[in-house]
Amino acid sequence: MNIGSTLTQAAAAHPDHIAVIHGDTRLSYRALNERANRLASQLRAQGIRPGDRVGILQRNGPELLESLFATFKAGAAAVPINARSHPKEYAYILEDSGSRAIVFGEDFAAGLDTVRHTLPDLDLLIGIGAGTGWSMPYEDLLADGDPANADSDCAPHDLAWLFYTSGTTGKPKGAMNCHANLQFMSDHYPREVYRLGPDDVVLHPGPLTHGSGLWSIPITSGAGTHLIPTGTSFDPNEIFELIEKHRVTKIAFIAPTMITMLLNAPDIDRYDLSSLRFLGYGGAPMYVEDLKRAIRQWGPILCQVYGQGESPMTVSLLTREDHTLSGDPRTERRLASAGRVREDIELAILDEADQPVKAGEIGEIAIRGDVVMRGYWNKPEATADVFKGGWYHTGDLGTRDADGYVFLLDRKKEMIISGGANVYPRELEEVLLLHPGVLEVAVIGIPDRLWGESVMAVVRPRTGASPTEAELLALCRDHLAGYKKPRFIRFQEDLPKNGYGKILKRELKQTILAETPETAT
Ligand code: AMP
Repeated sequence: MNIGSTLTQAAAAHPDHIAVIHGDTRLSYRALNERANRLASQLRAQGIRPGDRVGILQRNGPELLESLFATFKAGAAAVPINARSHPKEYAYILEDSGSRAIVFGEDFAAGLDTVRHTLPDLDLLIGIGAGTGWSMPYEDLLADGDPANADSDCAPHDLAWLFYTSGTTGKPKGAMNCHANLQFMSDHYPREVYRLGPDDVVLHPGPLTHGSGLWSIPITSGAGTHLIPTGTSFDPNEIFELIEKHRVTKIAFIAPTMITMLLNAPDIDRYDLSSLRFLGYGGAPMYVEDLKRAIRQWGPILCQVYGQGESPMTVSLLTREDHTLSGDPRTERRLASAGRVREDIELAILDEADQPVKAGEIGEIAIRGDVVMRGYWNKPEATADVFKGGWYHTGDLGTRDADGYVFLLDRKKEMIISGGANVYPRELEEVLLLHPGVLEVAVIGIPDRLWGESVMAVVRPRTGASPTEAELLALCRDHLAGYKKPRFIRFQEDLPKNGYGKILKRELKQTILAETPETAT
């Protein structure tokens, strides 16, 4: 087995079909496969052996797909790195993974040059675009490579993708996804997510180093066309223009914050988006008020996934059919959920003693099944900790209703304990977002000598709006028990986010405490 053979097979079945569009570049499946084969043969020729790790540090582009599939084909393990990382962050990932090679985009040459001397294992550096003097030119290597198929024969449990966690609650860890995990994900995709064929044009506004890249495998398996934006940052107008121009049928995967940006774009109604049948999102909470706006705007084309690098794409799904505004409170309540657990995965909600909680009670979400990673790279203790009792513990708190819908609260580490009572930030965030003047909000716990922690809401107002503290507290009084209301409300223009659009609450808390230490009592 080799997950890279997905591309080999797509090229055999649909050689002339367009695989990738990126600006003026168009590659057929034959061309994409041959380029991936050329790179795979060169990785081998340069000494990369099965199991070696290959870093991929690039913005979205055809080369990123080529590097990913070439690494699989060579039997090595891909280490895709978030393109918005700081050089210190990617140096950490390259070092931790012991990457022996890296395929990088020219934008990263200067940063990589400052850290490459600290990475003794990294002896093959392949640079796309302008040369550096210390790296091998990507196109030259491809020109001398072998275009024939020679996919390595891998065992199901061989490492394929070392997925570094987003690091929202600590240093990133490498989740070991093997060929069998990715094959499971890819095989189940058409049944559970979206039936996909060569007629599909799939847009990748999100990073191919994250969810979009994982789903590039089933999209390739169905011989869909990957449409990759050329912009260096998320631009709603570019997205709308591409959908209209290429009659996009599917948006692979974007973060909820990107959906909010699309909804707030002044030109949203100027474009014809009628070709769009599917919009995948997830990776962070999607708040109900924003979701309702999205459904009113685009209809039932949205599909939410809840997953982690540790259980790639995905644990549960809120399907397109679930995204309806029926007016029936029982079904509309589900819009606050992350849907139902996917096929062939067992999900349990466990208490502190690892026993299942009673129906409707809150506990830690734990899963078992073929999509779950093998463990964390070089971290046996962290691995043993998350796999205790044979279940993989997600670190997310949630509940499940009688119909099987899973409601996520927060990361366990982000739950606030104030005066012995648990406060779930997500619950409060949903309420504060009901205020029309609130664009984004993050609820965090601030150290409090008397109560242990006290609740702070950090609010980003909409442009031109000025919600007041009194209005927000009144909203909380109307919807929540008194002990949950924030003790502090702070307004600020922006909230820190990681490269995948997730709000970094740990960083936010540190900054606030450093700026205003008196907040903590
Ligand atoms: P990552 O491994 O970067 O994809 O991060 C996974 C974490 O993102 C999960 O453990 C959740 O805390 C969060 N997450 C993923 N999907 C969702 C979702 N649909 N709703 C809320 N949070 C999510």
